Amino acid sequence: MKRIIIAIDGFSSCGKSTMAKALARNIGYLYFDSGAMYRAVALYCMQNSLITDGEIDTEALRGKMKDIHITFEADPETKNSITFLNGVNVEHSIRSLEVSRYVSNVAALDFVRSEMVEQQREMGKQKGIVMDGRDIGTTVFPDAEMKVFVTASAEVRAKRRYDELSARGDNPNFNEILENVLQRDHIDQTRDVSPLKKADDAILLDNSNLTREEQMEWLIDTYKKLTTEC
Ligand code: C5P
Repeated sequence: MKRIIIAIDGFSSCGKSTMAKALARNIGYLYFDSGAMYRAVALYCMQNSLITDGEIDTEALRGKMKDIHITFEADPETKNSITFLNGVNVEHSIRSLEVSRYVSNVAALDFVRSEMVEQQREMGKQKGIVMDGRDIGTTVFPDAEMKVFVTASAEVRAKRRYDELSARGDNPNFNEILENVLQRDHIDQTRDVSPLKKADDAILLDNSNLTREEQMEWLIDTYKKLTTEC
């Protein structure tokens, strides 16, 4: 069967990563989390005092881009992908609400995006990959054979993020998370470079009322139809 590129884009906290990971595992593809890369750059800014009073020192960050190396490795036990920033495992710290607060502003910077997109295209050279993000089907891989655009109501998404943070032992505040989800939607949709939007040829998936199993069944059916057609 032909190996293809699967692009899964959509709004924050739609469960894109969970579904992309599960799909990749199911069909024997590699999974790449492009959001983790932007999160790692935001974390780098926080760790290196490049954010003061919520303002990013854009020029300093531009000069530091060559010092930011993001890599992924598979967890030997769970096989889940782990994000490394300059050789350090940052998988846990990039998921904090503090990183979520700054990441969309960092991801709106053109020089950050061009660097990340270049690295993502490099990852796509091997084919047989599932990548999730905001601009994968529109900018990174406009020729991806399968494109899915995921959405769900902001409340459903905030509740999912709340459950995820609670499960890992944080003490989240639902309203703060909802506010963050709405704010990231706004920044992602209105930025100048590669704003979040559905590619014309992407299939829309509203998963507000779908169970994970129903969603997986839908994804695998769609994948099978596309790979037997192409
Ligand atoms: O997917 P996740 O929520 O972890 O992504 C974090 C942030 O990174 C998003 O809110 C968005 O601002 C940015 N992002 C992006 N383009 C991508 C992936 C993520 O702008 N391809």
